[in-house]
Amino acid sequence: MAADPTSLKPRRQSVGVSVGGVVVGGDAPIVVQSMTNTDTADIDGTVAQVAALHKAGSEIVRITVDRDEAAAAVPKIRERLERLGLDVPLVGDFHYIGHKLLADHPACAEALAKYRINPGNVGFKDKKDKQFGAIIETAIRYNKPVRIGVNWGSLDNELLTSLMDENQAKGFPMTAAEVTREAIVRSAIMSAELAEEIGLPRDKIILSAKVSQVQDLIAVYSELSRRSNHALHLGLTEAGMGTKGIVSSSAALGILLQAGIGDTIRISLTPEPRGDRTREVQVAQELLQVMGFRQFLPVVAACPGCGRTTSTVFQELAEKIQGDIKRNMAEWRVRYPGVESLKVAVMGCIVNGPGESKHADIGISLPGTGEMPSAPVFIDGRKAATLRGPDIAADFEQMVADYVERRFGVATEAPAAAE
Ligand code: SF4
Repeated sequence: MAADPTSLKPRRQSVGVSVGGVVVGGDAPIVVQSMTNTDTADIDGTVAQVAALHKAGSEIVRITVDRDEAAAAVPKIRERLERLGLDVPLVGDFHYIGHKLLADHPACAEALAKYRINPGNVGFKDKKDKQFGAIIETAIRYNKPVRIGVNWGSLDNELLTSLMDENQAKGFPMTAAEVTREAIVRSAIMSAELAEEIGLPRDKIILSAKVSQVQDLIAVYSELSRRSNHALHLGLTEAGMGTKGIVSSSAALGILLQAGIGDTIRISLTPEPRGDRTREVQVAQELLQVMGFRQFLPVVAACPGCGRTTSTVFQELAEKIQGDIKRNMAEWRVRYPGVESLKVAVMGCIVNGPGESKHADIGISLPGTGEMPSAPVFIDGRKAATLRGPDIAADFEQMVADYVERRFGVATEAPAAAE
């Protein structure tokens, strides 16, 4: 069930940034984004993955730009996506030689909707500010926003060392972990200040400060949010595979979002070999939906099942209904405005079945072990029918389709009679 929006803290006020027309921050809804894991020089593979991520719901997609071949491929990828009718903004992820790639490939600089740079590896010693400045000047020239993305795996070592020395001189008032967190926050803020001094306005700057531990992430973003009003990109880096990655990211991001912190999110899941890259988009959408921030898909509430239901009928029906909805959504979004708010319940027995079904728009309570082989269906809180026999699943699916048509179908008026 979606969270009661009145229990959410107001969103922290940030300066909105347009990323190729998708606004991050300000009053805009929290944006879902993702990143490809293809070699960007592989144009076919990258176009296919960007398209899949965008179709799954990613509103911005980041791609790696790590060498000349990748930079040269970017405008071609942009062009191919446009030919497919996909206007998803592309973000270029630059490390070490971003300044050079952007200077040598102006068509890449133009085709990208945003540049992501990491102040920890933009250059070292006296080259650091110069190369950082060159990227910022390119962003100004092409009117592009920049994400200053600090990552604690590649934290600015000079800054960390100087803060460690400072802490030692003061008699160690902070732990090493606290100094590291402070270095992450300071790296992001100081880099943003430098970018603004060079001339990049605040409405062209997004900040992120990714770490891999949940408590560190919460501490770092809480501090970053307290000390700046830049739009914030949230993400737990190296979250891991499968359940661990999903749980860690959801715990960390959920707590921050609940506190009003975060304007765009990415769930960094390590895909299983040949796994589905769009999983990270589904998780991001579900996190925002279950917390009541956005609605992407109708909800199917299903009970977990227990010893009162020994058949798998209700699990199969819940899975089938969920699958039907996902499959139909592209068409339903157009034909049935508002259908994202639909709530369906598929319950396993009489204990919680009728109650939960009454709270849904349409719900079915299937018979548990030893119960009468009948399944009451509730629509808008009232019992509407009792299904029996071998076709209960098909009958209920039809009732869901009819309900969607009746409630969300746009009424077309009959043509007026000629006078
Ligand atoms: S609704 Fe029935 S089958 Fe489902 S978990 Fe509750 S008691 Fe078990």
